[in-house]
Amino acid sequence: MLEIVPFTLGPVFTNAYLIADSESGDAAVIDPAWDGHLILAEAQKRGWRIGGLWYTHAHFDHIGGAAEIADSLNPQPTIAMHSADRLLWQMGGGGALFGFKIDRGPKPSVDLASSRTLRLGGLTFEVRYTPGHTPGHVIFYCAQANGLFSGDLIFQGSVGRTDLPGGDWEALVASIREQVFTLPNETRILSGHGPETTVGEEKTYNPFTGGI
Ligand SMILES: [Zn+2]
Ligand SMILES: [Zn+2]
Repeated sequence: MLEIVPFTLGPVFTNAYLIADSESGDAAVIDPAWDGHLILAEAQKRGWRIGGLWYTHAHFDHIGGAAEIADSLNPQPTIAMHSADRLLWQMGGGGALFGFKIDRGPKPSVDLASSRTLRLGGLTFEVRYTPGHTPGHVIFYCAQANGLFSGDLIFQGSVGRTDLPGGDWEALVASIREQVFTLPNETRILSGHGPETTVGEEKTYNPFTGGI
C-alpha cells in the first residue's frame, strides 16, 4: 500500500511528499523542498529506507532539502529529474531571482526523459512529461493508489506560473489537458503548493483551465 506523509516546507510553503510502500518499507521523497532533516527523521521514525529523490522540476523551493537528505544516506539515493531541467538545476533552481542560494545536492542520476516508470517496492509510478511551468516538468501517477503528484503544474483552483525563465503558457495548458484531465475524475491530486484536490474537481472548478 502507498503511504504518503506530506510536509509543507521552506520560504514559499512547498509541499514535499515522503512516500513509501508500507509492505516493503521502500521510500522516496517527491520534491525534497527544504529542511531535509525533518523528512529524514520521519522516515527513520517509521523504519523506512529512502532510496530515491524524485523531482517534479528543478526550482529551488522543490530541491532545497535534497543535499541534507542525500548527505545522511548510505547508500546514496538515486536522484530522478527530467534532463530538460538540467540548466535550471545547474543554476541553483533559479533561487537567485528570489534571493535564495541553495545547496542543490548530488547530480541527478536518473533521466526522466527516458525512464518513464519509477518503482517503489511493489508500486509503480508512471512519469508523465508536462512542460510549461519549466521545460523539464514531470508529474508522477500511481494508478494502484489512485494518486497524482502534480508539482507546480496544477493546484487546487490554480495552475503553475509561466512567467519565470523557461515558462510556456500554451505548453502548460496542453500538459494539463493531455496528462491530467485524461485521468479518472476520482484521482487525488497532491500538488506542489496548497491543499489536496481531485481531477474531477479541477475539471469543474479550476478557473484557469475552464473550457480547455
Ligand atoms: Zn516551480
Ligand atoms: Zn513551487
